[in-house]
Amino acid sequence: MKLIKEKKSFIVIDHHFHNASSIAGGIFNPVVLKRFSIVWNASKQIERLKEVFTDFENLLHKKYIYNFPVYRIFNDEQEKKTWLKKANSHPDLIDYLSIDTEQLNNFSSIDSPIGSGEVLHTGRIDLMNLIKDFKDYLQINDLFIKEEFDFNLLKLQDNKASYKNIEADRIIFAEGFNILNNPYFKNLPIIGVKGEVLKVKTNAILPDAVVKGKEFLMPLENNEFFVGATYDRDHVNYDNTIEAKEYLTTGVKQFLKSDIEVVEQHASIRPTVVDRRPIIGEHPEFKQLVCLNGMGTRGTMLAPVMVDDLYNFLELNEPIDKEADITRFYNRF
Ligand SMILES: Cc1cc2nc3c(=O)[nH]c(=O)nc-3n(C[C@H](O)[C@H](O)[C@H](O)COP(=O)(O)OP(=O)(O)OC[C@H]3O[C@@H](n4cnc5c(N)ncnc54)[C@H](O)[C@@H]3O)c2cc1C
Repeated sequence: MKLIKEKKSFIVIDHHFHNASSIAGGIFNPVVLKRFSIVWNASKQIERLKEVFTDFENLLHKKYIYNFPVYRIFNDEQEKKTWLKKANSHPDLIDYLSIDTEQLNNFSSIDSPIGSGEVLHTGRIDLMNLIKDFKDYLQINDLFIKEEFDFNLLKLQDNKASYKNIEADRIIFAEGFNILNNPYFKNLPIIGVKGEVLKVKTNAILPDAVVKGKEFLMPLENNEFFVGATYDRDHVNYDNTIEAKEYLTTGVKQFLKSDIEVVEQHASIRPTVVDRRPIIGEHPEFKQLVCLNGMGTRGTMLAPVMVDDLYNFLELNEPIDKEADITRFYNRF
């Protein structure tokens, strides 16, 4: 989208083997719900996210942005006290935390005896449909090659790159976890964190909001809901497991008093980084090879701003945000 907006020529190569983005909840939420702290650069990210995904809506003539609150069910009175204190006086959080803790009381199917905190300026991007529709758009416009990138066919000369019959000033590698199979960037400290999610059906009357108890429960279409997600660093693969299904359904049942029927299960791998920041910038030796990775657990919010940073660096020579700059890992090449 950035390249379309800036009128730059490009072509996307993607084999659609596995991608985290297509199964992600697409939830955008500026608050860390464990500690009630603000996410890195949250307000800038939320603002840019709305602009970028509106651009997708305008280009593809479909709705992808769903604005709704996140209700965080309190586990105990202390959590509620902490929440209210931060909602009333914490300068970074005051705009994002509501002081109304009774919002879920009208929903008899949700068990929230101590109440819940409402996070504002949150919602969901329908990434699954967006990626599918955007891929169709790229294919119709001859901008998409569906194949696995073959590194044997990559030729690097005089700050240019060629691949088969394509010549380019740069190749941007945005391969998610699979970057560890990229011979040029495989030494970056990407840590795969497997995540599994469910699509469930229930007849319960639920709010038009994400409910966060032990798990996230988020409305989709047709009385279907997203439930997620697991975090597994020990079994990093793309397989659905019975254990995750049980873990997620048990987690939901801790606060949802109605029956659920599991209709789908998906697994993928988050590309996280040791210092929890993205990795963007040029290869130290081959400047025409560029990395856009490390979106971790929050790609929906992070990617629009990181793409801007990367573009401004490559085209306008502006510095990359130090915390996301690949140069911090140059000693690994
Ligand atoms: C279960 C789960 C739930 C999540 N929920 C959320 C959420 O609610 N909100 C949020 O913000 N984030 C969420 N995330 C995190 C988010 O999904 C990631 O931050 C984001 O998807 C990473 O995007 P990416 O483009 O870097 O990688 P990916 O989405 O994995 O995309 C990489 C792409 O590169 C392609 N590729 C890789 N190697 C090659 C190759 N050699 N040749 C051709 N193509 C290749 C793949 O086919 C794929 O299309 C979740 C993640 C998981 C796993």
